[in-house]
Amino acid sequence: MQTEHFWMPFTANRQFKIKPRMLERAKGMYYQSTDGREILDGTAGLWCVNAGHNHPKIVEAIQKQAATMDFAPTFQMGHPLAFEAASKLASMAPSGLDRVFFCNDGSEGVDTALKIALAYHKLRGDAGRFRLIGRERAYHGVGFGGISVGGIAGNRKQFGPALSGVDHLPHPLNIAKNAYSKGLPEYGVELADVLEQRLLALHDASTVAAVIVEPIQGSTGVILPPQGYLQKLREICNKHGILLIFDEVITGFGRLGSAFGADYFGVKPDMIVCAKGLTNAAVPMGAVIASTEIYDTFMHAAPQDQIEFFHGYTYSAHPLACAAAIATLDVFKEEGIFQAAADMSAYFEQAAHSLRGLPNIKDIRNLGLVCGIELEPQTGKTNTRAYDIFEKCFWEKDVLIRTTGDIIALSPPLIINKEQIDRLFSKIAEAIREQA
Ligand code: PLP
Repeated sequence: MQTEHFWMPFTANRQFKIKPRMLERAKGMYYQSTDGREILDGTAGLWCVNAGHNHPKIVEAIQKQAATMDFAPTFQMGHPLAFEAASKLASMAPSGLDRVFFCNDGSEGVDTALKIALAYHKLRGDAGRFRLIGRERAYHGVGFGGISVGGIAGNRKQFGPALSGVDHLPHPLNIAKNAYSKGLPEYGVELADVLEQRLLALHDASTVAAVIVEPIQGSTGVILPPQGYLQKLREICNKHGILLIFDEVITGFGRLGSAFGADYFGVKPDMIVCAKGLTNAAVPMGAVIASTEIYDTFMHAAPQDQIEFFHGYTYSAHPLACAAAIATLDVFKEEGIFQAAADMSAYFEQAAHSLRGLPNIKDIRNLGLVCGIELEPQTGKTNTRAYDIFEKCFWEKDVLIRTTGDIIALSPPLIINKEQIDRLFSKIAEAIREQA
């Protein structure tokens, strides 16, 4: 097979193309590789196939829609599925968050939410609020807004200054104090106070439009919020009139056993960004779920015949994506998939922590059906130990895992059963031992 033309995203292209890892079919908890092996999916694709692969109801909905209406514009036009998908999503979101702006992925969702935040303050006559605050080690996608509030050096350093007026809070990972925490770490709530300190000492609260955080920082290795941390961020934002945005691209749709991380943590943001699990990843789609108050601010700011928000994508609320979203949200409800994840999380936690004591492991952290296994860095090699284990898992153990730096991150489809959890962790354990 010719491999030179596809410039692969977030991939070591030359290394990959020497020995390509190829998938060609999927069903339930499994992929099938092009060499005919059944691969247990420990990552739900990329944290996105929450209901398991090729769910028949979702497949059918997409097929039906493709044959009915391929595309319809949503600029000054509409189609019923767009409104239905928005209503279903709103009814699943925390109360008061019920206005849905559709886009195509998480990156567009983040940039959309940041723009809404800036425009919202301007429309309220508070245009001095231009500053956006993210966190170190945050991943908010790859748009210029997202890499600016994101905190990953590799995603920023080649692309110039990006957005100005952005600051970052420290990330809350503290292995020295919280190693092997089961669930939320005990130490670190005071890191939320850094927000208030920066407001008072540096920025002046009146210049800040929004704070954006992932309830769990997934992409940089499963960094959990310390107990009480998100609540504290909410209090500080409330006190200073700052919008709080939760980027729930990973934590949305049952990953923690509830619809959103906001429900799990009992903290209501002003906007939720979601994507991935929204359509079970079968068709790309993202969304910003905004509060009624934010939406109303836009609606009341201009005469009725004027466009309120100069933003949108050709494919906002694409009919195939809407059909997939409607079917997916129905499947989540009908099959009790969030509850299944909640019920399985204690078993998953126990299995994850059973790896403690294996060579080169320095931390294991977990919540819901997410787990991070942090390894000691290896010296004298350019690739990480985690990457070696990932290769071993794929080629020799028939298990798909994901790695980021020295960390193995697991996020299986939420339909995983106990036998599959056992298999996932025992295969990873073998690979860790063999790699040592
Ligand atoms: N935000 C978070 C928290 C993510 O984890 C991701 C992707 O993993 C994104 C945004 C970007 O989403 P996408 O890759 O769909 O643009």
